[in-house]
Amino acid sequence: MDRLIEGHKRFLAEVFPKRRDDFHLLRDRQAPEWLFITCSDSRVLPDLILGTGPGDLFITRNAGNVVPLTSQDVDGCTATIEYAVEVLGVKSAILCGHSDCGAMKAALNPDGLANLPKARRWLEHVQAAFAHRQPVNPADGEGAELASLIRGNVVAQLWSLKAQPAVVRAMAEGRLTVFGWYYDILTGRIEQYDEEQRRFLPLAG
Ligand SMILES: [Zn+2]
Repeated sequence: MDRLIEGHKRFLAEVFPKRRDDFHLLRDRQAPEWLFITCSDSRVLPDLILGTGPGDLFITRNAGNVVPLTSQDVDGCTATIEYAVEVLGVKSAILCGHSDCGAMKAALNPDGLANLPKARRWLEHVQAAFAHRQPVNPADGEGAELASLIRGNVVAQLWSLKAQPAVVRAMAEGRLTVFGWYYDILTGRIEQYDEEQRRFLPLAG
């Protein structure tokens, strides 16, 4: 805990005073342009990798960047999507998976989930990834098989995202665009799924 308290002290002394206006401009309401759905993994730092700050990204995270499709119950992710689209009026929704994803490793080796009943149930939502597996890219090295499944999960969750009622409405009315990304934590590079070409292409050229 000490490290977090020290970090917060530094934030109060050095960071917040310089960014005070950023926060105060957002005092009455937020108007983020982007909904960002990603994994809980501590190595994925949206504001750092995209150069965004206060008020920019409306974020929902969970293990495996899942958008539950079949759940009868309300869940945090789909409720957040509904709010972002219908109330905040985000213009884009980005679904971002990442290399070396522990959730997708677990999907490949479900034996490790024997004592994790909730995780096991949650990861039933990523089964569609197997049907959308992407071609193995040798550039991914040792993790190439896993990476092809992770990219497949981005495609699968993108379909789930596009099936959310609020998203269907917003896309039909031309007020929302959705994107699927794969972030490589070892190179820092992002790929975007091209639906016409049905493959991932570098985001930054
Ligand atoms: Zn992950």
